[in-house]
Amino acid sequence: MQDFPLTITHILRHGQEIYSDSEVFTWQGDSARRASFGDVAARAGALARGLSGLGVGDSDRVATFCWNHQEHLEAYLAVPCMGAVLHTLNIRLFPAQLAYVIQHAEDKVVCFDASLAPVLSRAGKEALSKVEHFVQIGAGDTSALDEVTGRSPLLYDDICGGNVRDGEMSWPDLDERQAAAMCYTSGTTGEPKGVAYSHRSTFLHSLALLAACSTGLTEADRALVIVPMFHANAWGLPYGGWLAGTDLVMPREFLQAPHLARMFAELSPTLGAGVPTIWNDLLHYGETQTVDMSSVRALTAGGSAVPRALMEAYEERFGVPIIQAWGMTETSPLAAIAYPPRGTPPEEAMDWRAKTGRVVPGVEVRVVSEDGAVLACDGQSLGEFEIRGPWITAEYYKTPSDRFHDGWLKTGDVGTLDERGFMQIHDRSKDVIKSGGEWISSVDLENTIMGHPDVIEAGVIGVPDERWQERPLACVVLREGANVSGEDLASWLEPRVAKWWLPEHWVFVEALPKTSVGKFDKLTLRKRYAEGSL
Ligand code: ADP
Repeated sequence: MQDFPLTITHILRHGQEIYSDSEVFTWQGDSARRASFGDVAARAGALARGLSGLGVGDSDRVATFCWNHQEHLEAYLAVPCMGAVLHTLNIRLFPAQLAYVIQHAEDKVVCFDASLAPVLSRAGKEALSKVEHFVQIGAGDTSALDEVTGRSPLLYDDICGGNVRDGEMSWPDLDERQAAAMCYTSGTTGEPKGVAYSHRSTFLHSLALLAACSTGLTEADRALVIVPMFHANAWGLPYGGWLAGTDLVMPREFLQAPHLARMFAELSPTLGAGVPTIWNDLLHYGETQTVDMSSVRALTAGGSAVPRALMEAYEERFGVPIIQAWGMTETSPLAAIAYPPRGTPPEEAMDWRAKTGRVVPGVEVRVVSEDGAVLACDGQSLGEFEIRGPWITAEYYKTPSDRFHDGWLKTGDVGTLDERGFMQIHDRSKDVIKSGGEWISSVDLENTIMGHPDVIEAGVIGVPDERWQERPLACVVLREGANVSGEDLASWLEPRVAKWWLPEHWVFVEALPKTSVGKFDKLTLRKRYAEGSL
């Protein structure tokens, strides 16, 4: 067989040539700006020429500090295909973490949204002075950034302008194993760690997204990409969608429910991808406002456990399935997706869909005990998931870690695996509640509590207990005007979970703290508890 290199350049060419009239929509607040794949590819070529002109060479890191939009997609295509490495910076990192990752990745160029200049400036002089060029996308006041960097940024349109040419761009030949992109973990459980994706891993992961047993992207689809492009490559949708000719709808900073509802109504996406908190917000908005999801065939959700109650509510209200998937920055991210196995009667489908997911073709997962023994795939034996495959990272960028051994990655997620490859995550190992020598799953408790009609959000942490070592504390956000107590919730919960799981501590809060990628921030909850402010 031919040894054809698996590169993003092929992905770029395929979308450009075969699906040149597929489109990218960028929401502008009250309507969408649109561009064909053919135009976007031409502009990606122009961007690559412009970046070369700035001295960007092989393996240099070009960072983005952007919302999801057309120019971000152009960078997704241009930077890897010119042989450089696209580093998608998380715009919601704390300033110190942002400074750390910019320096750790040694970003040479940062392309940023003008509206985010003040946020970027918070990375500080030390980190930003090492960046050679700043490239501004869109109009806006960048003075906060200019003050810190001591210069004005270049303009994206100037860099591309004049460089847009008709005809084929001659992209360089690349080694499929060279780095194409990098992304740092969001630091939910510590300092952000860098993951470098190769062309090969991205190519294979994109094909996996097209498989009918995963998201099954095709030219007939239009995907609303709510998950940020800095969060594990927007779950692979930009590359997968481009390869399949799927229209992409980019919401920019308009992530609030009223905007999303308009995007659904006016742009008729067939797919949407976002974390459960986004879908939860839209659900509550839909209680008083019209949300038209008649164009949607499925929504995907992941990043944290998807409450069953949320999936049921979507079926009931919008007639739309939410499909749960599991993955990590380290796994590109798609690794498991929850479709019921063959022969499942309709009334049992939700039992399967509420599980974390079924391992996708191409990756292997196992469950390992604390002493390293591989456990049975029986749906019962509880241990840490380990994973391997061609789109699973083999190391962290320049950061030694004991999470890699014998070709496997230790995920830090604890759960069970059954003989048919269905994973059920009980918890992150750091969040599991150890009570009287047994483990309580904070995720299960949260999901069950969120099934209560008056509860909007629930986050559960373990708090120290003299007798049991730890006991669960539930922080709950109630629906406006609801009048329920902790005791009411506990008695509602009693028939639904094991008796010894019942939280005896209930705290009502206005909102739960969230991490930079929209997960319940348990580090902050624990800190608040330790300080006595819960
Ligand atoms: P970070 O590790 O910085 O939080 P990631 O997005 O890479 O950022 O997080 C991956 C983690 O998210 C997984 O290890 C798992 O704990 C959690 N996760 C992702 N999808 C699911 C899911 N469907 N159910 C439960 N947990 C999930």
